[in-house]
Amino acid sequence: MSGTLLSAYEGIVCDLDGVVYRGPSAVPHAVDALGAARAGGTRIVYATNNASRTPGDVAGHLAELGLDLDVADVVTSSQAGAVHLASVLDTGSPVLAVGGEGVGVALEAAGLRPVRTADVADLGRPVAAVLQGLGKDVTWRDLAEAAFAIQGGAAWVATNADLTLPEARGLAPGNGALVGVVREAVDVDPLVVGKPETPLYELAADVLHTPVDRVLAVGDRLDTDLQGAVSIGMDGLFVLTGVSRLRDVALADERCRPRYVVLDLRALHQPYAEPVVDRSGDGARAVVGDARATLTSGRLDVEIGTDPTGAARALVAAAWSVLDAGGDLDVDAQAWARAEADILAAHDAGGPR
Ligand SMILES: [Mg+2]
Repeated sequence: MSGTLLSAYEGIVCDLDGVVYRGPSAVPHAVDALGAARAGGTRIVYATNNASRTPGDVAGHLAELGLDLDVADVVTSSQAGAVHLASVLDTGSPVLAVGGEGVGVALEAAGLRPVRTADVADLGRPVAAVLQGLGKDVTWRDLAEAAFAIQGGAAWVATNADLTLPEARGLAPGNGALVGVVREAVDVDPLVVGKPETPLYELAADVLHTPVDRVLAVGDRLDTDLQGAVSIGMDGLFVLTGVSRLRDVALADERCRPRYVVLDLRALHQPYAEPVVDRSGDGARAVVGDARATLTSGRLDVEIGTDPTGAARALVAAAWSVLDAGGDLDVDAQAWARAEADILAAHDAGGPR
């Protein structure tokens, strides 16, 4: 279909948690929208910062949710780390694998030799590098061994630097927190390969065989998915089904602003209605269809009309207009939360988007 948001792209690099699934369940409309994209000839690579699972495990999970894909359509930050190390080390070099099963599997697939903490003593020589990714069974001994290896001159690659990991019971320490523990003991910083750094997106673009300007990066987190997209030069699509909220997008600086704002992935198959923005005094007003948003002196007003997605876009566009003119967005967080809740309620009620 021409004229849809997706028609400008040949490939998608799609985040997982908060985009395709949340915990055990699928995000509404995501599986159908991605399935239709693939059926229409768009190539899709699923890229996750989560280093603990193998691409096979991830692909199995996605297939259970109803997606049609191959294992090669999944790239993880462990793979990005292993591919980088394979480019700078001799084939078969021993690498300390800190983290879940995905870390060791990625090293092996890249032609390196994963070594676990318990096997370092038997190796008879120092490891050439440390690849550190998330693993829920990582212990003090693993972190200490990593620190010793790094002090001995081993290269240090971290799969990602996410400080937190959303879990059902709250936020847990993410890989970045455990990397920080090792950092306390050594004098160097790791090379980070996951989003928002570019190697994981570079790997995804390689798998897609598509120039980055024809790839759409889809994600739910500004500080990883969208910042990574800006860094590498891909257009970013923000979907409001995961971690970052509408207020985060509205207040975002240019380093992590998405090209598109949507409420769910059905929008891939719709034309993208651009907001029309009017500056007025120290405020701004934006219109999309019959939805409008006005930001003036500490006030936020939104009229959803029949277009909740348009209302979200209008809010963001008005906010960026104020910020870019050097203005202040002195709107309290509760007003943003109310606006978002109203928009999502109208969206869930099933009105036209
Ligand atoms: Mg995510």
